[in-house]
Amino acid sequence: MDLVVVSADAAHDAVERLTGVALGHHCPRCGARDHGRPVAVGSSRHVSLARSGSHAVVAVAAVPVGVDAEPAGRVETAALAAVGLEGADPTRAWVRAEARGKLTGEGLSGRGHHGPDAVVTDAHVGHGLVVAVATWQPVRLRAGPGARDVAATDPAGPTPRGRSAR
Ligand SMILES: [Zn+2]
Repeated sequence: MDLVVVSADAAHDAVERLTGVALGHHCPRCGARDHGRPVAVGSSRHVSLARSGSHAVVAVAAVPVGVDAEPAGRVETAALAAVGLEGADPTRAWVRAEARGKLTGEGLSGRGHHGPDAVVTDAHVGHGLVVAVATWQPVRLRAGPGARDVAATDPAGPTPRGRSAR
């Protein structure tokens, strides 16, 4: 999986230049192509996009993926508790939940999901951002251009029993 950090106001052009994947949209509700979830046009690769301030973090992968990003320290404990979550680092807990929700399409809390659980991995991209990616299988993160410090990190979420984390 490639993770790239780009300027939010030029995300589409930058992603195409850096990964070769053209970003489009597809609305799961009405089928329109001018809004909705980001998709890789003319490619079997999967895309997820998170905007945070002046940055956008884009994950391009061979498998379905959800990514979320927030500025470090952005989420307060109370805000996390308000959506039924907890964590020693509220921002980290928030982006992990958001990444998972983007993967499953169930939103932040993801209640009622009975299938296999997602693998959530922390990514360190620099730029003062807290980033997590969610996939159904453990993946190796690769720093795309613009993501200075992407580290392949230990999965932060629950890994299904009997499955290697790598
Ligand atoms: Zn629509």
